[in-house]
Amino acid sequence: MKLPQFEYACPTTLHDAVALLAARAGDAKALAGGQSLMPMMAFRIAQPALLVDLRKLPGLREIKVSGDGVRLGAMVRWRDIEDDARLASAHPLLKAAIAHVAHYQIRNRGTVGGSLAHADPAAELPGIALTCEAEIAVMGKGGARTIKATDFFLGALTTALEADEIITELRLPPWPQERAKSRRWGFQEFARRRGDFAMAGVAAFYDLDNSNKAMNTHIGVIGIGDRPHRLPAVEAMLNGRAIDDASIERVAAATSAAVEPQDDIHASAAYRRALVGTLVERALTSAAA
Ligand SMILES: Cc1cc2nc3c(=O)[nH]c(=O)nc-3n(C[C@H](O)[C@H](O)[C@H](O)COP(=O)(O)OP(=O)(O)OC[C@H]3O[C@@H](n4cnc5c(N)ncnc54)[C@H](O)[C@@H]3O)c2cc1C
Repeated sequence: MKLPQFEYACPTTLHDAVALLAARAGDAKALAGGQSLMPMMAFRIAQPALLVDLRKLPGLREIKVSGDGVRLGAMVRWRDIEDDARLASAHPLLKAAIAHVAHYQIRNRGTVGGSLAHADPAAELPGIALTCEAEIAVMGKGGARTIKATDFFLGALTTALEADEIITELRLPPWPQERAKSRRWGFQEFARRRGDFAMAGVAAFYDLDNSNKAMNTHIGVIGIGDRPHRLPAVEAMLNGRAIDDASIERVAAATSAAVEPQDDIHASAAYRRALVGTLVERALTSAAA
């Protein structure tokens, strides 16, 4: 389908980009990789009168790795994450999850900021941001602020962003380097075809204490419900326990019982309930291996 008509601006400063969005509040949209926005416009799900292209804004395509964690600029593309060798140790869970995003062409264009702002319930990066307790830095006409991932995703394609706000950075807390061997993690998802959005996915990590028991367990789920979410009751079942086949089996069953999937055109609720239990089992088994 042809796109609806729109005006186009390509500012070179963040200040100008925010001003353009603010001047047309609600009727203008940021354009990053265009991989979600263009299809939305073609299907008339979105019809902004003005697109504010972010590609010439300086400093938004950097990946910073330091003792403070990993910072991904909003215009960092999936391909940049894949190509950054530092992330294999600086954030292996992120790297593993991003490997599942979309197809080759889309991975060359799609961005961190676009994925967070689009907030697809099955998208990998929002799930990682939530599971890892990341923060999202944004700039709007009222200035800069940071939003916790737990407060950012409000529902399907709905976030806490104001109409004039632009995401500038995703901040992931440090992945322990000195305790690398005691941090265990796994990422698993299932999609009908490689590169499709997941029917469901699971990100999990925990640390082993001195007696080889789990602590600090984080389990996040994508593709179930209207936004990514954690499973606190299931996480609590693992903390203080040795991770073995029996505990993993119990947790997988508890996960299936804890989630509340809906029927949709891709799968029944019962299928997704069973699927997510299996994915938790696989993620924890690979984490423990
Ligand atoms: C066939 C197909 C398969 C896909 N499969 C997957 C998948 O498996 N997993 C997955 O995660 N994604 C998938 N995607 C989506 C893809 O990852 C997109 O690239 C991503 O969701 C949006 O990023 P973008 O840079 O293209 O954003 P755009 O399409 O440019 O923008 C998306 C939305 O975000 C807003 N926006 C963009 N950048 C900012 C910013 N910095 N600040 C504020 N708002 C901003 C835009 O205004 C728009 O509302 C798929 C897409 C397609 C077409």
